[in-house]
Amino acid sequence: MADILPFKRKTPAEKHKGKSLCVHGFHKWVVQTEKKFDVKQGKLVTVYRCARCSKEKTKLL
Ligand SMILES: [Zn+2]
Repeated sequence: MADILPFKRKTPAEKHKGKSLCVHGFHKWVVQTEKKFDVKQGKLVTVYRCARCSKEKTKLL
């Protein structure tokens, strides 16, 4: 095989892609806990966590 695909390895730019999305506010939210009681708000919330940067957010039910 003389023809080796030149794009096998990920470039640093590609590795960065996911995180840069996070930086721009486009997180990959995954439901962490459904119906958790948030003491601060006194309400049930759903906890989301970003699969890439582990940032968490809560959403009121
Ligand atoms: Zn993120």
